[in-house]
Amino acid sequence: MLRERWSSATVVESAEDTCPYCTSLLKSHLGAGQVSPWNTVLYESPNFVVVPTLGSLVEGWLLIVSKAHLLCMGALPESHGEELKAVARRTVMAVTRTYQQPTIFEHGPSACSTPMGCGVDHAHLHVVPLGFGLRGRTATVLSTPELEWHATDEWFAALRALYNERKQYLFLAELGAPPMYCTPANVPNQVFRRAVAQLVGKPGAFDYHEDAGEENVLLTVRRLRDAFTTLSAKKRP
Ligand SMILES: [Zn+2]
Ligand SMILES: [Zn+2]
Repeated sequence: MLRERWSSATVVESAEDTCPYCTSLLKSHLGAGQVSPWNTVLYESPNFVVVPTLGSLVEGWLLIVSKAHLLCMGALPESHGEELKAVARRTVMAVTRTYQQPTIFEHGPSACSTPMGCGVDHAHLHVVPLGFGLRGRTATVLSTPELEWHATDEWFAALRALYNERKQYLFLAELGAPPMYCTPANVPNQVFRRAVAQLVGKPGAFDYHEDAGEENVLLTVRRLRDAFTTLSAKKRP
């Protein structure tokens, strides 16, 4: 069975039947309907898929998406932690070999349909080869002189604790710094995407509804499919 159901305590109450990942990405992966380039599954584990993203502002932009319809990575059951970290490590390896060491981030909402949720209330981590830091620009986007970031090596446990306390969070792991999170009260939607869009000189293109970035998506699929296949082949005896 591709997607497991969790206890009602951990399943988010937003409708699966309007969720683009549940109705499109994960369904097309099951063989129903046509696969859009951004729904091409490049890697799969029992509980996650790795896909490119609609609105790729840079080539090589990937998402690690939970197969279960949960609000954010903090809402995953504890038992998924090691698998998520392993998928993240593999994804970082594939992106690093093909592009450069990526930045990882998540917009972590604490409820459905909030600006924090970047438009899709279904758990996903962004993995993006950026080559520049996002921390400073995120504070600028939020018009906050300084955000209070908390560094943690136990990031999965930290995100679960935040979710359990119903705190919305921004999670960021970038080059040269330990993973970190902050819990700003008010955010515009797609905060990190806004920061990336400004830093790549396309401030108006942050909204994936406006700019699908299809050319980048197609290049990402072509180059990273090979990278994941090579990694898998190396693992075999
Ligand atoms: Zn969903
Ligand atoms: Zn997002």
